Amino acid sequence: MKDGLGRSINYLRISVIDKCNLRCTYCMPVAGFEWIPKSEILRYEEIQAIVREMAGMGLRRVRITGGEPLVRQDLPELVRQLRTIPEIEDISMSTNAILLPRFATELRLAGVDRVNISLDTLRRDRFEEIARRPVRLFDETMHGIYAAERAGFAPIKINTVLLRGLNDDEVADFARATRNKPWHVRFIELMPVGENLHLADRFIGTDEVLERLLEIDELLPDEGPRGNGPARYYRFAGAPGSVGVITPLSHNYCDSCNRLRLTADGRLRTCLFGDHEVDLKTPLRSVGSVRAAVESALLDKPERHLLVMGSDKGSGGLGALSQVGG
Ligand code: SAM
Ligand code: SF4
Repeated sequence: MKDGLGRSINYLRISVIDKCNLRCTYCMPVAGFEWIPKSEILRYEEIQAIVREMAGMGLRRVRITGGEPLVRQDLPELVRQLRTIPEIEDISMSTNAILLPRFATELRLAGVDRVNISLDTLRRDRFEEIARRPVRLFDETMHGIYAAERAGFAPIKINTVLLRGLNDDEVADFARATRNKPWHVRFIELMPVGENLHLADRFIGTDEVLERLLEIDELLPDEGPRGNGPARYYRFAGAPGSVGVITPLSHNYCDSCNRLRLTADGRLRTCLFGDHEVDLKTPLRSVGSVRAAVESALLDKPERHLLVMGSDKGSGGLGALSQVGG
């Protein structure tokens, strides 16, 4: 698939639910969010039909995300359905890992190739402040990471959003973990959306993060793990894991963007930010052509996002990244 600017598009992020079992301070408000009504949420068969159509147009990789995807009932069933589409070469998932002790093995058997796990702190005493849910869920997260390892998921990528004064003193701890474990820790810049604008002064650019990493030891540029997207990777000599940075704000990578997003209620978003989206649910549920809707969306995919720190103007009115899967 090519977009109107000639970029090759082969990757779809599928948000399967807008709900979550955490309330990460940069992501979701603690309360007052309106959930998508169940009747509006795409059924697994409908997601499969959309992916099948897009696979015929050139889609090769999908990532299942949320909200928290494992909060949705019987998620392995969706994976099994997506696995029946021969063109899809890679199925990955983004999760906070809390439910992985229950689901890791079943997901692996169902056909998930890789998991990315969100983990913003290694310190139990900090979890509640960041995730705004009881600390026992920190223990579940850690169990979830080990369950993923035991189930054979590799590489394991860890996504860490750094917030100045909250968890930025853990950069070195996360980095050191890559010397002992085959973890690929990616530091993600905070993106300003919805109610998180008050966190603007906690933003840390990844250039500063790299400087701090270099204080630990020499870092070698690295190819990074399989399935790498916009992250830049580095490795300490001899380390089994790597550290990476994802820089949506300080250095955007829109000119090589290869992705689309499908919301839980069936809107195809051509950019993480902004308000450009095309409804796929209506053509899917009534008479119409999903393919024609995808083609029209591709033509209008924006050249770049217009996000700037400290303002939600470029976000297109997005309330939280949990609504579009990050
Ligand atoms: N619940 C799953 C998880 O946490 O991995 C999947 C959905 S979550 C929205 C996907 C990713 O978006 C996570 O890595 C999370 O850290 C990131 N994210 C959410 N809000 C963000 C923000 N405001 N700035 C940067 N990253 C954000
Ligand atoms: Fe939930 Fe993921 Fe958002 Fe945290 S980042 S609130 S785990 S959707």
